[in-house]
Amino acid sequence: MTGTRQPLCVHAFDPFSETDGPGVRAVLWLQGCTLGCPGCFAPETHSRYGREVTVDEMFAYIAMLGGRIEGVTISGGEPLQQFRPLLRLLSRIREETPLSVLVLTGYSWDEIVRMPGAAALRERVDVLFAGRYERDLRLGSGPRGSSNKTLHLFSDRYTVSDLGGASAHRPGISPVAPGAGGVGQNAGMARCPCGVGDRYRDCCGRLHRGEASAATAAELMRSRFSAFTREDEAYLLTTWHPATRPDRVGFEDGPRWTRLEIVRTEDGGPDDDRGVVEFRAHYLDGSAPGELHEVSRFVRHDGAWVYVRGKVIAGD
Ligand code: SF4
Repeated sequence: MTGTRQPLCVHAFDPFSETDGPGVRAVLWLQGCTLGCPGCFAPETHSRYGREVTVDEMFAYIAMLGGRIEGVTISGGEPLQQFRPLLRLLSRIREETPLSVLVLTGYSWDEIVRMPGAAALRERVDVLFAGRYERDLRLGSGPRGSSNKTLHLFSDRYTVSDLGGASAHRPGISPVAPGAGGVGQNAGMARCPCGVGDRYRDCCGRLHRGEASAATAAELMRSRFSAFTREDEAYLLTTWHPATRPDRVGFEDGPRWTRLEIVRTEDGGPDDDRGVVEFRAHYLDGSAPGELHEVSRFVRHDGAWVYVRGKVIAGD
C-alpha cells in the first residue's frame, strides 16, 4: 500500500506577515477549495490550478527564513484538501524547526475528527481555526475570518489572548461528542478505521498498543490498514516479515486511506500457519478517490501473524 508523490498546490506565499497570527509569520495559502462558503473572501483560491511546489521545496523556503519568523500560518483555499503533502510539510516543520504552526480550515471540528490522519495533524499543529466562513459573522481583523470559527489549541505555546481572545477548545475539553470520532485524547473514542470495531481503542488500538495480537490473518490485515491510516510505522514494520520488510514505510508519498473491504480469505485462521487475504482499500489522492485491490499473503513467524507480500490486482 503505497502511493504517488503529490506536491503542494500553492496560491501564494508571504514570508513576513504581521496579521496572520502571533508574531511575524510566514503565510502559505494553498490553492483549491470545494467548500463554497457564501461570500468567501478568496474565491480566486477555489480552482485547482495553482503553482505546484514539492514539499521539500516549500520547506526549504520556510527553513531559509530562520530566526526571522515565529511561525507558519497555513491558509487557503482549503489546506485539508491537500492532506498528504500538508502533513509531510508540517512534519518537517515540527521535527526540524522551532516554528509554531497555525492552520485555518473551512472544515468544522466534527468533520476534521472523522478524517483519517486527524491525530497526526493534531500532533503537528499548535493552533487550529475550524469551520466554514460566515459572512454575517465576519471579523475585520486577525486570522479567524468569522466569529463562528472554533479555536483549538493543541499545545501550550499560545493562550487565547495571543489569538485575539477567541474562546478555545483545548484537547480534553473538546466539543466533540463521545463516539463521534476524535483526535488527541478523543482518538480512542473514534470508530476504528478498519470498519469493524465501534471504538479504535477497543479494536485495532489493542493490537497497536501491544495489548493483544491478531488471532487471524484477516485481523492482522485490518490492524495494518488501521495502522496505515494512523501512520503507525512501528506497528507496520513489526508485523512485516523480516525477509520482505522495508527499512521504512514512507507515508509522505502515500494517499489518504479511507475504508477497507475484505473480499475473501483463504486459511489464515487461529490454527493455521499461512493465510491469504484479498481486499480492496479505498483512498483519496488529493480529492480524487481511488482503490487498491490486492491479494496479501501472511504467515506465522515466531508464533505471530506477519505480512509477507501482496499482489496488486490490476484492471479493476
Ligand atoms: S473554506 Fe475558505 S476558501 Fe473555501 S469557500 Fe470557505 S472561505 Fe472560501
